[in-house]
Amino acid sequence: MRHCLKIVLLCLSVVPMLSAAREIALTFDDAPTPDSAMMTGVERTHKIISALQQAKVSDALFFVKADYIDQQTAARLKQYTDAGFHLASHSFTHQSANQLGANAYAIDAYKAHLALKPFKGVLGFHRFPYLHYGKDLTDINQLQAVLAELGYKDGYVTVDNFDWYISTLITQAAEEKKSIDYDKARDFYVNSLYESIEFYDSIAKKTLHRSPRHVLLLHENDAAALFVGDLIQHLRNRGWKIISPQRAYKDAIAKEFPQVAFHKQGRVAAIAHSKGVPESELRHPSENENYIKQAFTAAGIVEAK
Ligand SMILES: [Zn+2]
Repeated sequence: MRHCLKIVLLCLSVVPMLSAAREIALTFDDAPTPDSAMMTGVERTHKIISALQQAKVSDALFFVKADYIDQQTAARLKQYTDAGFHLASHSFTHQSANQLGANAYAIDAYKAHLALKPFKGVLGFHRFPYLHYGKDLTDINQLQAVLAELGYKDGYVTVDNFDWYISTLITQAAEEKKSIDYDKARDFYVNSLYESIEFYDSIAKKTLHRSPRHVLLLHENDAAALFVGDLIQHLRNRGWKIISPQRAYKDAIAKEFPQVAFHKQGRVAAIAHSKGVPESELRHPSENENYIKQAFTAAGIVEAK
């Protein structure tokens, strides 16, 4: 009997370990994005804030493309921080550091740094447009040093995906006045993103032998405005916990900057690559415009009028 009790107690102590929620933070690039055929920028910001608030997500990080800032869009950024969310730098003109070169990119990043100075709620994180960290390791390390001097840590992602392209296809359909099946569009967005999350988590488990605190790459786009609440619900239904970006960036992988030139599929993929996993295994098939376009068409989301 006593033996049985011991076994039961042992099982109970193991349960929390097995059921520990995997954790993921939400980040939105390119804010404050311009008006689209589907909604104004002001509406987009309202929708994203209200979806996050309804889902009781207490923090999210908006990476700002600083040359989008004007009087009206500054008010949108302030709405995010007033709601308790945070801002970070996504450069000034959103160019590829690989093409621009380290010196010109550093100047651009500095302009963004100045443009963000008047805002409250800015965290010292910088994210490279296109996740292009520099054309080679020399440039990459030079830029990391420059950004560190300006007070920025690397605003890496762990889950890359093509949410921006899904959003483009939906908005294009609206522009062309085609009828959109929003239920199908929602399922397509949610399932595509969820697949990417599981894909990079499985790479992490193989490479790090654990699930790190993830950072999901999203954009401040129409698809997020429409469906981010559904995505959050889907994640929670499958045992994921939405955490703050600040908590995510405290994971041990934040201190592990892999000495490879391959960063464009995110931090987990870069670490895996530094341990010998070929690049071809570190990119989900849906990170491809043709693949998404075909799947999007096949899903019957858009009907020509
Ligand atoms: Zn961007």
